[in-house]
Amino acid sequence: MKVHHLNTATLCPLSARLVNGEGSLFGRARLVCHVLLVERPNGLLLVDTGIGQDDVADPARLGPAWVRQVAPRLDMQETALAQLPALGFAPADVRDIAVTHLDLDHAGGIADFPDARIHVRAEERDAALSRVGTQGQRRYRPGHFAHGPRFATFEPGGERWFGFDGVRQLFPGDPDVLLVPLPGHTMGHTGVAVRTGGRWLLHAGDAYFHHGQVRTPPHAPWVLRIFQRRADTHRELREANQERLRVLAAEHGSEVSIFCAHDPVELDAFTARA
Ligand SMILES: [Zn+2]
Repeated sequence: MKVHHLNTATLCPLSARLVNGEGSLFGRARLVCHVLLVERPNGLLLVDTGIGQDDVADPARLGPAWVRQVAPRLDMQETALAQLPALGFAPADVRDIAVTHLDLDHAGGIADFPDARIHVRAEERDAALSRVGTQGQRRYRPGHFAHGPRFATFEPGGERWFGFDGVRQLFPGDPDVLLVPLPGHTMGHTGVAVRTGGRWLLHAGDAYFHHGQVRTPPHAPWVLRIFQRRADTHRELREANQERLRVLAAEHGSEVSIFCAHDPVELDAFTARA
């Protein structure tokens, strides 16, 4: 299976040094929305979607507080939909979308693919539609679900994969795309593992925010750590899963390449290789 790494939105919060860990203290940081486009025999699979074209046209859909804080670039050309023609694909070729979770910066693009099946853990779909509390209202945006997405929900499975439990195949009978529960950031948060060229890629979503968090010893810039804590639904679970990902990287780094949604260093390493 051929896999493409896309940046589907650039986020520019203050400050470069405190968020990226390098650059100017007063300059803007650069975060990405790392999305996989997987060429499967029966159509394209997107893993996460970034923000969508309706969001770029009308950023109020994303919520004013989020827009102010993370300062998205709002470039139509960065959306997943806009990137398809240059790769030789049409929007209708995207049959399936697996979302790590339904936060606005991961689910915004699903409205651009109204006919695709949206694979998401049932608990996450329910949380996104019920929007409980201030946190639920900020992170899940009604405009992203107003078109009536074709949700295909799943529950955790019964397999083990490199020490992770509850793993299941996304497509029954296809051993090369796996769903790996990684709760904490949200309770339904799920990593997506794709095997390509004999190696695994693990899209860990927002299970961690900075590449240093899965290195040994772990480290991350402090403003990014504050963002992370503020977005935690269950801190202990998030911290435990982040630690398991660090161990996975340390012990199986030659078999599994792990990356998160927003780290530009990780994305650049994949796109430079391509
Ligand atoms: Zn995110």
